[in-house]
Amino acid sequence: MYENERKQLIAKLSQSGIKDISVLKAMFNVERHLFVPEAMIQHAYKDVALPIGFGQTISQPFTVAFMSQALKIKAGAKVLEIGTGSGYQAAVLAKMGMKVYSIERQFDIYQMTLKLLDELQIRVFCKWGDGTIGWDEFAPYDAIIVTAGSPSVPAALQKQLQMGAKLVIPVGDKNSQTLKIITRIDESNFDVEESPDFSFVPLIGREGWKE
Ligand code: SAH
Repeated sequence: MYENERKQLIAKLSQSGIKDISVLKAMFNVERHLFVPEAMIQHAYKDVALPIGFGQTISQPFTVAFMSQALKIKAGAKVLEIGTGSGYQAAVLAKMGMKVYSIERQFDIYQMTLKLLDELQIRVFCKWGDGTIGWDEFAPYDAIIVTAGSPSVPAALQKQLQMGAKLVIPVGDKNSQTLKIITRIDESNFDVEESPDFSFVPLIGREGWKE
């Protein structure tokens, strides 16, 4: 269903500078309309963020594509996502062939998305908890993606990066953030690239915003 709509969305993303074929392919294959509430289905293939209930949103397709591309990973990589939300970003990474670990702090969302990913037979290791402290058990990761806006870069996430791996995280105030693409050079050195003007819901937790 909605194959034409997805084709048009992919064409638009490609014109907007998304060149990574594995990202475009995965976004063609993941049915975004299954990740939004029923009342939002007619908007599922517009390039906009949409409400998913519980005060949260499913990220804009361009943002998902841009972040997935920025991670610079190859199939088989182990990726940690903070902010499972609807599960759409996690599903895109899984379709790209990644081994995905994802943490969500709101229990209702965690449960809803666990069920959906299971029904769709998309393999993602989900956890309910505070992602600002990462998921030490399976570290180090080949990439870490944070899909909520943070006041600063949580130290634990930098620590759980493999050497050479990237952490992509929106950092700023509650309304607007700069996307930081941080590469771990060695034990204690990190390179940072920045891309301005993103808008995510807040990252709430020990190393994020306080409620
Ligand atoms: N990747 C999601 C985007 C969801 S919005 C998608 O594709 O739909 C961001 C999500 O981050 C929200 O569900 C919010 O509850 C969650 N979140 C906020 N702070 C968090 C934290 N400290 N740890 C884990 N999840 C968090």
